[in-house]
Amino acid sequence: MKRIAFISGITGQDSSHLAEFLLEKNYKIYGLIRRSSTDNTWRIKNILDRIELITGDLTDQASLDKAIKLTQPDEVYNLGAMSFVKVSWDNPEYTFNVNAIGVIRLLEAIKNFGKQDTRIFQASSSEMFGKVQETPQNEFTKFYPRSIYGVSKCAGHWIAINYRESYNMFICCGISFNHESYRRGLEFVSRKISYGVAKIYLKMADYIELGNLEAKRDFGYAPEFVEAFWRMLQLDKPDDFVLATGENHSIREFVKTAFECVEIHNWQDYIKQNPKYMRPAEIDYLLGDSRKAQKILGWKSKTSFQELIYLMVNSDIERLKRGDKIE
Ligand code: NAP
Ligand code: GDP
Repeated sequence: MKRIAFISGITGQDSSHLAEFLLEKNYKIYGLIRRSSTDNTWRIKNILDRIELITGDLTDQASLDKAIKLTQPDEVYNLGAMSFVKVSWDNPEYTFNVNAIGVIRLLEAIKNFGKQDTRIFQASSSEMFGKVQETPQNEFTKFYPRSIYGVSKCAGHWIAINYRESYNMFICCGISFNHESYRRGLEFVSRKISYGVAKIYLKMADYIELGNLEAKRDFGYAPEFVEAFWRMLQLDKPDDFVLATGENHSIREFVKTAFECVEIHNWQDYIKQNPKYMRPAEIDYLLGDSRKAQKILGWKSKTSFQELIYLMVNSDIERLKRGDKIE
C-alpha cells in the first residue's frame, strides 16, 4: 500500500521540492491549492500528472474538513502560509488568520476526520527568534518575534505543541532558517538578487533596488530542508528541530557573491538602496544551531552559500535566455 501524504500550500517553493522527494519514495500525494484567477502551478508543472490537487484554504474550516475526510493521509505537511514577512505589516490580520488560526483549523480537521495515527509536520520559522536572545539559536532559545509573521509563526508553533500534548497527536515542528532555491518567490531577497544579476548580465536591466544590506541570514538549500521534514515524521516519537546551515552571511555578501558568479566585480555600481524595502522592525542576525537534527535525524545541510547562489543565478540566466515566463 502506498503511503498517503497531504501537503498544504502545494504551489509553494518547499511543497514543490517535497512533492518531488515523496514521489521518489512512492507516496500518493494530495496537494491543497487555493483558488486563483491566474495559473500559479509553475513550480509543480513537471509533476502535475502524478499528484492530485484539492481546492481548499487554510482560512476555511469546511474545505479542510472535506479534504482530510476525503484523503485520509498518513502524513500531513502544513507548508501553506502567508510567508512573506514584509507583507505581514500590510495584512496583519490575514497573516495571523492563515499562519496561526489556520493551524488550529487543519489540526481540528485531522483530529475529527483523519486517521488516529496521522503524522503531522508544522513549518515553524527562525523568524520566531527575531531579536535574538542568544547566538546561535537552538530549540531552547527564547522567541522574540519582530513581525506579525513571526508572531503568527510562534502562535502556530505553540498551537502544534499544544495539540500534541493535549490529544497525543504525532506533530513535529521544524524551525527552519531561510532556505532558498531557483523556485523561491521573486519578492524574497535571494531570488530578487539572482534574477536581478541574471538580467544585468544579459543586459536586460541596469540595477537592482534593495533595502537593508547589513542583515545577516543563515541561508540553506530548500531541497535539503524538505528531506528533514520527512525524516521528522519517520521518528518513533514526535519532536521539534532547528534546521539551519550553521553559517550566516549578510545581504551585502549575497549580492557580491551573486555578481561574482557572472564575473562582475564592481557590484556596487549596480545596486540602488530604496527605503521602500526597509522594514519597520528588522531582524539583524540569525544563525541556527542544528546539532539536534544532525544527531537525531542524521540530517545536515550540504550545499554551500556559494553553491546555492551559483545555482540560483545560473537558473535565472538559463530561464531568461530561453525566454521562459519568469515567476
Ligand atoms: P511559499 O513559496 O510562499 O509557499 C506558501 C504556500 O502557501 C503557497 O502554495 C501559497 O499558495 C500557500 N498559501 C498561502 N495562503 C494560503 C491559504 N490561505 N490557504 C492555503 N494555502 C495558502 O513558502 P515556502 O518558502 O515554500 O515555505 C513553506 C512554509 O515554510 C511556509 O509555512 C513558510 O512560512 C515556512 N518557512 C519557510 C522558510 C523559507 O525560508 N522558505 C523558512 C521558515 C519557514 P499561493 O501559491 O496560492 O500563494
Ligand atoms: P525573511 O528573512 O523571511 O524576511 O526573507 P527576505 O528574503 O524577505 O529578507 C531577508 C533580509 O533581506 C531581510 O533582512 C530584509 O530586510 C533584507 N532585504 C534587503 N533588501 C530587500 C529587498 O529588496 N527585498 C526583501 N525581501 N528583503 C530585503
